[in-house]
Amino acid sequence: MEILVTGATGNLGNATIKALLNKGVDKNSIGALVRDESKADELKELGVTIVKGDYNDYDSLVNAFKGVNKLFFISSSEVETRQEQHMTVVKAAKEAAVNYILYTSIQRKTDKKDSPLDFVLDSHMATEEAIKETGITYTFMRNNLYLDFLPWFLGDKVLETGVYLPADEGKVGFMLRAEMGEIAANLLTTDGHDNKAYNISGTEAVSFGEVAAMLTEITGKEIAYVSPTYDEFMETMDNAGVPKLFAIMFGGFAQGAAQGELESGNTVAERLLGRKPTTVKDFVKQVYAQK
Ligand code: NAP
Repeated sequence: MEILVTGATGNLGNATIKALLNKGVDKNSIGALVRDESKADELKELGVTIVKGDYNDYDSLVNAFKGVNKLFFISSSEVETRQEQHMTVVKAAKEAAVNYILYTSIQRKTDKKDSPLDFVLDSHMATEEAIKETGITYTFMRNNLYLDFLPWFLGDKVLETGVYLPADEGKVGFMLRAEMGEIAANLLTTDGHDNKAYNISGTEAVSFGEVAAMLTEITGKEIAYVSPTYDEFMETMDNAGVPKLFAIMFGGFAQGAAQGELESGNTVAERLLGRKPTTVKDFVKQVYAQK
């Protein structure tokens, strides 16, 4: 198998497989790793090879990875057990003698232990390290936040309540997940990326204050931006009944933004995509113009 995409039943995996097919890659050379075959109907229709494997099951992964040239290793969505799962994936890739790993990591400015992104950064850094230690050729996509998730950060009632996040004036280089999938497909099919780490983000990072201004312009209603302290934010989320894990995620990423961890300031992704990525303004227009 030339390319095996893990997390293939998920959004990024699916987008990557479609981008590979759109580029003309032969469907017979693409494998899709799934842990639950009942979710693989769409992938089967695309004609790619379904390979069973679970990040919690070492033997299943060694079997799945045998004969694979390039592995697109999509980080697990199970945040609490992710680090152990990732170590299992990397060990299996080594055992199966995979030639190349493209891994979805996270963008950051620093690798500090006390980073507000620590709740997700830890496992990504450990995985990058483990991949390097195998000696397998790698590329790291250090992905910024999905632009698709911006409405989640803003909340359902943003047009009534305004933008409320502890992000100060910090900026985020949001990028659409489908465009990240296209970049993954490009990285898997072109040379020159060996042992490199790329920051994958939109060309222009924006602050949540700027997002509020965009919403004001688009809707004609005054949308305010308030940046509380982290503790105030967590208390408000708790009072509103927002599950703790979500509050930690929104608050942690917002604090990461406040400290400049998610600011992009480069055009690497634009170059890897081959065109300008969708801007936050265009996305916000699409989502909120009708509301
Ligand atoms: P997603 O739609 O939730 O897909 C996650 C994929 O991982 C699914 O295919 C899932 O399989 C698979 N998976 C989870 N646990 C597994 C296991 N034990 N064994 C094998 N496969 C397993 O996520 P996405 O939107 O494609 O994003 C890809 C990854 O990026 C996420 O998993 C997460 O690590 C990270 N992420 C990044 C951002 C960002 O803003 N940059 C946001 C959220 C997540 P099932 O379909 O069977 O569950």
